[in-house]
This record gives sequence, C-alpha cells and structure tokens, in this order.
Amino acid sequence: MNEYVRNPRYCLQCDDGTILEYGAKDVHDSIHGEAFTVRAVKGWHCPKCGEIEFVDGDAERYSDALEAASEAYEKRRATEIKAIRKKLGLTQAEAGKLFGGGATAFSEYEHCKTEPHKSTVLLLRVLGRHPELLSELVEEPHPA
Ligand SMILES: [Zn+2]
Repeated sequence: MNEYVRNPRYCLQCDDGTILEYGAKDVHDSIHGEAFTVRAVKGWHCPKCGEIEFVDGDAERYSDALEAASEAYEKRRATEIKAIRKKLGLTQAEAGKLFGGGATAFSEYEHCKTEPHKSTVLLLRVLGRHPELLSELVEEPHPA
C-alpha cells in the first residue's frame, strides 16, 4: 500500500471529499486571455477544479510562467493602445487630454508603466473599429 492510499489528500477548494492526485502534470492556464503551459508540474493535483498543492519549488516555476504571461498581456495591450491612438491620428498628449489622465498618460500606457482604466481600453477598442465616432468626442459640447 503506497503513501497515497494510506494518506489521501483532499481538495480544500472543492471541499467535497475530492481526492488529490500526486504526480507531475502539464498545467494549462491563462491570465487576461493569455494562455500558458507549465510542463511537468510536481504536486498534488485536483482532478475536479485544477487546484495544485505544489512540491519541490514548482510553485515558483508556475508563478514565473504566470508573471511572464501577464507581462505578455501588458505588452500586447500597450501595442494595441498605441496602434489605435495612431489610427485615430492623435498624439499621446492629445489622447491624454481627450481620454483623461494627462499629457503623459498614454506614454505610460504604451510603455507598460501604468495600467489604463478598463473603460479607456474599451472605448479605444470601439473607436479602433469605428474611428468616425472620434469626431463626436472632440466636438465642443453644445449648450442645452
Ligand atoms: Zn478541487
């Protein structure tokens, strides 16, 4: 009788008696839609929810992969923001004035120094698909 059978470990996330499986498994995950795989992650794996109790320092390998995927996402977002801003024909200062955040906001977004607000990203994406709508934003407001 091996240790696994003698001392089963239960998933604390599922909390329903699901028994963790010990082994080295490839783990597929994603952050902000950026998929990544960590090969042969050693630990106790939940077959139901994917929770892992890491062993042999594999938590660090996993968190490194997570961080790399997160950085890849930030770079992709920065590239996207810059491309849309240029498509709209705006300088960084003009974009900062129009969308808020000040003259340096877009420089910071485009160099991954500051995270843009989600609403800014969503509005930029809409304008990227419908650049003709930009004129409605830049027109002076009319008195009611
Ligand atoms: Zn679980």
